[in-house]
Amino acid sequence: MHEIILCKLGEVVLKGLNRHSFETKLMSNIRRRTQKFGKFKIYSRQSTIYVEPVGDGCDLAGAYAACKQVFGLIAIARAVPCEKSKEAILETAKAYLGDSLRKAVSFKVESKRADKSFPMSSIQISQWVGGMLHDAFPHLKVDVHTPELTVYVEIREDAAYVHAPAEPAAGGLPLGMGGSALSLLSGGIDSPVSSYMMAKRGVVLEMLHFAAPPYTSDLARQKVLRLAQELTPWCGRMSVHIVPLTEIQEQIRKQCPEEYFTLITRRFMMRIADKLAKEFDCRALITGENLGQVASQTMEALRVSEDVTDLPVLRPLIGMDKEEIVRIARHIGTFDTSILPYEDCCTVFTPRHPKTKPHVEEVREIESVLDIEGLVSRAMEQREVVKVKL
Ligand code: ATP
Ligand code: MG
Repeated sequence: MHEIILCKLGEVVLKGLNRHSFETKLMSNIRRRTQKFGKFKIYSRQSTIYVEPVGDGCDLAGAYAACKQVFGLIAIARAVPCEKSKEAILETAKAYLGDSLRKAVSFKVESKRADKSFPMSSIQISQWVGGMLHDAFPHLKVDVHTPELTVYVEIREDAAYVHAPAEPAAGGLPLGMGGSALSLLSGGIDSPVSSYMMAKRGVVLEMLHFAAPPYTSDLARQKVLRLAQELTPWCGRMSVHIVPLTEIQEQIRKQCPEEYFTLITRRFMMRIADKLAKEFDCRALITGENLGQVASQTMEALRVSEDVTDLPVLRPLIGMDKEEIVRIARHIGTFDTSILPYEDCCTVFTPRHPKTKPHVEEVREIESVLDIEGLVSRAMEQREVVKVKL
């Protein structure tokens, strides 16, 4: 049986005049993700993208799983095309969904007719196919409200398609349609989720991680690279820039009052992020900050940290509860790595009583004893980049 994948477009269909470029981008993203599973013909018709294996030896299950992680698709189903006649549709349903029909207790048939020249209406197709399936599988009950199995029939221009219920896909917008941004990736639970959330809006990510060797270990670094790797099925391949913060943190500790450590450290992070973003033509910074979660995440503290950049700082988790964040982290597959117990540079020097309501002017004044430019440029010079592939 010649099984194919039907991908239903999500918000892309709302894009009016831009729709064509969205669809083209989406198809090229699907092509890239499925290529390691064999050769597929990928084309779009009537708000659906078709992924059709060419020749034998394609791993359809692999391609299906990959498509489920492509942003821009709202639902996905495996389906079998057949000739546009009611008999062919019935035979295909029996052969393709026979096992499921035998196991189910109740069912219904739902039809859609995009090709209006087809001689039966959708209701007539459903009734006829449903009746014939009922004859063939007499144990089944017809239940139009809550059937255990729904058999879908679609009559389109080039063929009819029979499929079982579609599954939800990744949603969002095609990667590459939202420009690029620089995401600050720590080893925690939050920043992989914030990265994923912005990628879901079509944003291509460049990643930045701060380490503080020897205070932070190689294991902490490996953990961050593993998180980046776990993000690639969603966010695509990426570069992780690793910048050492050691000298900066030592200088802050030596020269600034303890209650300001975190705030001033965060300002350095933002300065470096700003520079790197501009170098890579990124139009925004992304962080996993969340209002009220820790002392450095009050509105006053956020104001102080973003004071050193003129780029928009996107904080997709700002109003979420930890529970919701954890749920997403589990869903995208980063949670188990995030909870590995390696230290982050932020936790190496944590003040006992961090300032929660800082003023920008006051912080600027306090940090003015530091050689800000020298520290930033030395840290930038020592950076390293690791390419993480899908
Ligand atoms: P996370 O779970 O993402 O580590 P958090 O709740 O621990 O977040 P903070 O440690 O205050 O909060 O960090 C807030 C945000 O700052 C992080 O979500 C991340 O975007 C950025 N950040 C923190 N530490 C680092 C780091 N070592 N490298 C890069 N970015 C970092
Ligand atoms: Mg953290």
